[in-house]
Amino acid sequence: MSEPVATSGKGMKLHTKILLGLLVGLALGITANLTLGSGHRLVAGINTYVAGPVGQVFLRMLFMVVMPLVFASIALGVAGVGDIRKAGRMAGKTLVYFFVTTALAATLGLLIVNVARPWDRVAPETRAGLMAEFAGDAAARVETSEQQRFGIETIVSIVPRNPIDSGARGDMLGVIFFGLMFGAALTVISAAKAQPMIAFLDALNAVVTAIIHFAMLLAPYGVAGLIFTVSSQFGFDLMLAVAAFVVTVLVALVLHVVITLSASVWFLGGMSPVLFYSRIRAVIVTAFSTSSSAATLPTSIDVAQEQLGVPQRIAGFVLPLGSTLCMNGTAIFEGITVIFLAQIFDIGLSIGQMVLVIIMSVITAIGAAGVPGGSIPLLVGVLTMFGVPGEGIAIVLGVDRILDMSRTTVNVIGDHTAAIWLGRSEGVWSAAQVPSPGKMLVDAKP
Ligand code: ASP
Repeated sequence: MSEPVATSGKGMKLHTKILLGLLVGLALGITANLTLGSGHRLVAGINTYVAGPVGQVFLRMLFMVVMPLVFASIALGVAGVGDIRKAGRMAGKTLVYFFVTTALAATLGLLIVNVARPWDRVAPETRAGLMAEFAGDAAARVETSEQQRFGIETIVSIVPRNPIDSGARGDMLGVIFFGLMFGAALTVISAAKAQPMIAFLDALNAVVTAIIHFAMLLAPYGVAGLIFTVSSQFGFDLMLAVAAFVVTVLVALVLHVVITLSASVWFLGGMSPVLFYSRIRAVIVTAFSTSSSAATLPTSIDVAQEQLGVPQRIAGFVLPLGSTLCMNGTAIFEGITVIFLAQIFDIGLSIGQMVLVIIMSVITAIGAAGVPGGSIPLLVGVLTMFGVPGEGIAIVLGVDRILDMSRTTVNVIGDHTAAIWLGRSEGVWSAAQVPSPGKMLVDAKP
C-alpha cells in the first residue's frame, strides 16, 4: 500500500504543513478570541463561510472512505490469516501473542488516561459548549451510544441485520463483523472463486487509500480551519488539555515498553531487556524517523538476524506479519484518544463502553496499515461510534506527528519481542545465540 500521509509531493513535508496549519489556525483563533471575542460578527462570519466549510470538506473526505476501508481491510486481513493458519501452530502462537500484547497495551492506555485525566484542564462549560457547537452528525450517535449499555444486546447487535444499513449508519462493529465473515468465507470457498474477490478487495483497498491521500493533501487547511473554529470560540484552556493529552500518550507508550514488553523479553525471551534494546537500536531509530512499520521492515529483518541472532525462518515469518498486525503503540494511542476526546466533548462513557473502547482499539490497531497515520481513518470511525464529533480529530491530527513516530517505535519493538519469544518457544533460538559485539557482521545498520 502506498503511504497515504507521508509527503505532499514536493517541497515541505506534509506533516510539517499540518503542524503549520495547526499553529496558524490556533494563533489566529486565539487572537480572535482574545481581541474580538467569540460572539463578534467577523469571527462568526469567518467560522461560517471560511474556516468551518474548509474543515468540514476535509473531514467529510475522511468519513467518506471509513466504511469501505474498514470492510476491505478486515476482509482481506482475515482471508490472509486463513492462509497463515494453514502454516500451522507457529502462526497460531504468533497471532495469540500479537493479540494479547495489543490488548494489554490498550488496557494500560485506558488506565493511564483515567488516572492522568488530561481533560480536567478544560472547564466544564467549555466541554458542554463544544458538544453543543459541534455535535452535528454525531448527535444521533450520542443517543445510540448512551442507550448502549454493555450487555447481552450489545453482543447480539454486533451481528448486523443488513450490512449496508450498518455502513450507512456508521455502525463500525456491524461492518467489522460482516468483514470478518466475508474474509472467513473467502478462506473456505475454492481458490478459483476466491481469487477474483480478493483481487477486487485489494483494488478497493488501494482506491480508498488513494482517496485518503487526496484528503490528507487538504489536511493542513482543514486542520487550520477546524482549530480556528474551536480556538476562536473556546480560547486557550483546550490547548493546555491537548498538551496534557500528548504527555499522557507518551507516558503510556514508555510504560508499556518498560513494563510489559521488557517483562516479555525477560521472562518469555529469557534475555536481558537492556541488551535487547541496545541491539535493536537501529530499528528504534528507523521506526521513529519513518513513522512506518512497513518502511521499517527491511531494517527489522536485518537487525533481528544480525544483532539478535534470530533464525531467518522466524524473523522472515514474524516480522512481516507483525508490521501490519502487531500494533501495541497504536492501540494505546487509539484508546487514550477516544477517551480523551469523549471527555473533551462531555460524553460520559460507562465501564461497559470503556471495555468496548479497548476491544475497538485492538481490532482497529490490527486493521491499520503500517504507514504514517495509518490508524487515523479507522480512529475517525471509532470516534463517531461513541458519539464524539469528527471535529475532534483535528485536535489530534495537529499533534499527531510526534505521537505517530513514538507509537510506531513501540509497534516495531513489539514485533521483535514476538520474534525472540517465538524463536525460544520453538527451540530454535536462545539468548546465548545473540552474537557478541566482536562477532557481529555489521554494527547497527541504519
Ligand atoms: N504509523 C503506524 C505504523 O506504521 C500506524 C499508525 O498508528 O498510524 O506502525
